[in-house]
This record gives sequence, C-alpha cells and structure tokens, in this order.
Amino acid sequence: MITSVLNTAELRKDFPLLEQSVNGKKLVYLDNAATTQKPKEVLEALNTYYEEYNSNVHRGVHLLSQKATDAYEAARTNVAAFINAKHSHEVIFTRGTTEGINLISNTFGRMFLQKGDSILITAMEHHSNIVPWQMICEERGATLKVLPIDDDGVLKMEELPALLDDKTKLFAFTYVSNSLGTVNDVHEIIAQAHGKNIPVLVDAAQAVQHMKVDVQHLDADFLVFSGHKIYGPTGIGVLYGKEQWLNVLPPWQGGGDMIKTVSFEKTVYNELPYKYEAGTPDVSGAIGLSAAITYLNGIGLEAIEESEHELIQYALEKLTAIEGLTFIGKAKDRAGAISFLLNGIHPFDVGELLDKQGIAVRTGHHCTQPLMDIFNIPGTVRASFAFYNTREDVDLLVAGVRKAAQMLS
Ligand code: PMP
Repeated sequence: MITSVLNTAELRKDFPLLEQSVNGKKLVYLDNAATTQKPKEVLEALNTYYEEYNSNVHRGVHLLSQKATDAYEAARTNVAAFINAKHSHEVIFTRGTTEGINLISNTFGRMFLQKGDSILITAMEHHSNIVPWQMICEERGATLKVLPIDDDGVLKMEELPALLDDKTKLFAFTYVSNSLGTVNDVHEIIAQAHGKNIPVLVDAAQAVQHMKVDVQHLDADFLVFSGHKIYGPTGIGVLYGKEQWLNVLPPWQGGGDMIKTVSFEKTVYNELPYKYEAGTPDVSGAIGLSAAITYLNGIGLEAIEESEHELIQYALEKLTAIEGLTFIGKAKDRAGAISFLLNGIHPFDVGELLDKQGIAVRTGHHCTQPLMDIFNIPGTVRASFAFYNTREDVDLLVAGVRKAAQMLS
C-alpha cells in the first residue's frame, strides 16, 4: 500500500514482528501508543553490542569498555540532535517517561515546593504525570491543580491564566494525549507559563514518534519520553532538562558514576549528565534507542507526520460511518490514537472479538482513570497508529468493529 508520502509496504518489511499471523489471521497491530514494534536496525544494534563489545561504561581502560562508552555517549549526542538540545549533557538517560517525571518531581519538588504552593497538571494526564506529583505535593504540603478539558477532549485554555498563579511552581502537561489523541497547543502553553516565570515539564511520550519535537524552539524546561514508544527498546528513556535547571537541582539517586569523589564524610557529585545517572546505565538500551532515531531520521519525521495524519483522517472517516460508534476525544488537532465506544458494549468485549480477528487494540482506561471519570466511562477501545500502518489495516479494523457490533448487540 503506497500512501502519498511514504512507501509503507516497503517500510513494513523492516519490522519482522509485523509479518506474523495471530489467531490464524494477518496481524493488524494498532496498539502503538502502548509500545511500537522494532525495526531490524534496532535489533541488529542490540545484537552487535552484546556479541561484539558488551562491557561496562565510563570505567574500564580496556578496549571493549572504551567502545561501549563511545557508543553510549554517541547515543546521547544522537538523541540531543534529534530533539535539538543545545548540549548533549542536557540529555539524561532514564528507564522511561515515568522515571524522568519521578526524577523531576523528587528533585524539583524537594528543592522548590513549600507548604501552600501548587503544581499544575491537566485533566488528560497519564497516571505517570499525576501520581509522582501527588506524592511530592503530599510530602511538601502543596496542592495539585488541574487544567480542565471540554467535551471534545481539548484543554480549556481560557482557564489557564487564572491557574498560573503566584503559588504555581511548575506546570507538567502532556504534548499528545495517549487516550484521546489530542495534540495540545504546547507553544502557547509554554509562552503563557513562562510569561509568569513558571517552568514547564512536557510529557512527550506520545509526541516524539509522530512529529518533530525541538526543545529549544519549544523553550521546554524539561521534556521526557520513552524509547519503546519510538521504535527503540524497553527500559530506556530520556529526560531533557535545560542546563541551568539540571545544574541547580540536586541529584536524585546516589551510587556509582554520579560522583567525583567519595569519602565517609562527604561526596562530591559528578558533573552533567552523570550526576543523574547513578549505577550502570542501560547501555544496550541507549544504543538501541540511538539506532531507532537514526532509522527514523532516514525516513524523516515530517513525512511520518504527514503520512500518519492522512491515515488517521481516513480511519476517522471510515469509523464515523459505523452506526452506534461514539468517539471519545474529538479534537481537530490530533495524532496517534483514536478512542471510541460501541453503544453500551463494554470495551473489553470489543477488544476480545477484535483479537480473535488478529487485530490488536488496547481497551480499558489507558492509565488515565481521572480522564475516564470525566467522561463517566469505564474505558475505551483505542486504536493507535504508527507510520507502518496501512489503509488495509484500517479497513480490517473497521470490518472487525462492524462484526463485533453485530455479534454483541
Ligand atoms: N505519558 C504518556 C502520555 C504515555 O502515553 C505513557 C505510556 N503509555 C507514559 C507517560 C508512561 O510511559 P512509560 O510507561 O514508558 O514510562
């Protein structure tokens, strides 16, 4: 299947997992917001590391350790260029989005949050951008405030100025909603927050794989994402932080690598980025993530964005024609995910019937329970797209949903 911008049929061949059958049917993988599949380039990079130069980093003088260190640091430079960070030491490798947010909530929270202060989030956050802030607010006697959304699942921007008050110490929000597919007006949000000297943390877990993200252009103070959602391995992620912030904040975890000198009386911490990378890092993960980024650069994020946009418009059009289907989230500006319900049918039942037809979607609350409460629903059926999905995948999804509706109603 050739879309106007990408030769998807050719590109799919880079992903061995997509070739398989599930329940005797061609696999239609539409759970990309949960995790993406990995191209051969990533699998080969992992294999080469373990077969040829597996070694610990920043420690050995021997050749293998130097090779591993060089590859690990080259991965950092590659990530920095990918998000256009000013310095590669502004890129901290983490376990994923969740760990990046916990790192900032713990360090920033302990340093700057006082009794009576607040942290602002939005109504469409993933649990990982809610719970860490709740924990630190509770510890510090601070309040968690929430920017609401309208019925379409779009942020009520008119309420933002009042919420950005002089007690607000940080605004943490998602770039793209994993449940609704809403793309937030991140530039406007950051301009407003910075207009009041409030720093921002951008959860880009559902953005970096769908559109070009430039941290300098955004002027983001902190930005986080996960490797496994951008065609890289699990267990690796990125925290970007402006140098001025990362230099001011205290370290989070203590241990090897994050120190310059240690005595029983006093430890002198290492410089950036090592200050935030205690212990042996996920060397293979960083190398795999870097391979994923190089692979994506080869295709081009602009082409990916255009191709996915076209596919999502096609899917919306086709799904709209199904009687009894309601979309949850109707933002005009959207990426990645489409959530829906079929009249009175529980999302799990729809998901199960789709699985029988080889179609992998996610059902449930998608780690956004407060958002589901706002819509007064237990969850949704979510189809989420990657650049390797085709119109044929959408047609099979639509046929599958029609069949499920028939069988269950
Ligand atoms: N934020 C958003 C918007 C997400 O979609 C996810 C993953 N579903 C996360 C955070 C958490 O990512 P991870 O589990 O990889 O840390």
